[in-house]
Amino acid sequence: MILPISKYGSSILRKKAEPIKEITPELVELARNMLETMYKANGVGLAAPQVGKSIRLVVIDLSKEEEERNPIILFNPEAIPEEGENPKEPDEEGCLSVPDIWAKVSRPTRVHLTYTNENNEQIDMRDVTGKFARCALHEQDHLNGILFVDKISIADKAMNASKLKRMAKENQSSGNSAL
Ligand SMILES: [Zn+2]
Repeated sequence: MILPISKYGSSILRKKAEPIKEITPELVELARNMLETMYKANGVGLAAPQVGKSIRLVVIDLSKEEEERNPIILFNPEAIPEEGENPKEPDEEGCLSVPDIWAKVSRPTRVHLTYTNENNEQIDMRDVTGKFARCALHEQDHLNGILFVDKISIADKAMNASKLKRMAKENQSSGNSAL
């Protein structure tokens, strides 16, 4: 089932999402619907607040082709920058909740990622890098009420200010529709 995506300006995108206490079949079904919604929108990651649910659930699939799909469902994910040599690097990001804006965000390049999967298994991944690390950090931000446009340069903020203002106005009233 395709779910409606909350857009910039919706208050749910600014809330800290609640931890998930138990992985139920309903939550796994929600995750599958989130994946379907993400594929339809050509995204690589989606967090539950983006579909109106303020809970710590994320889906990620970095594969480019439909035949190579590699969906990952992450309950209560935590992406912590690895210690030691781990400089922040800028790279272009976009977001299904902030359409038509692409800008560079600096993020640590190596993370320690932990989560519970849909089979209730604890996953612990050290030294996650590249797009997976970036995506995990972007989605984790969603669970904490942070959007990538909060982290872009002042110049990029200025360049996109009118777009953001318009979106905020359009979506302000749609934020409290679902929990
Ligand atoms: Zn996003």
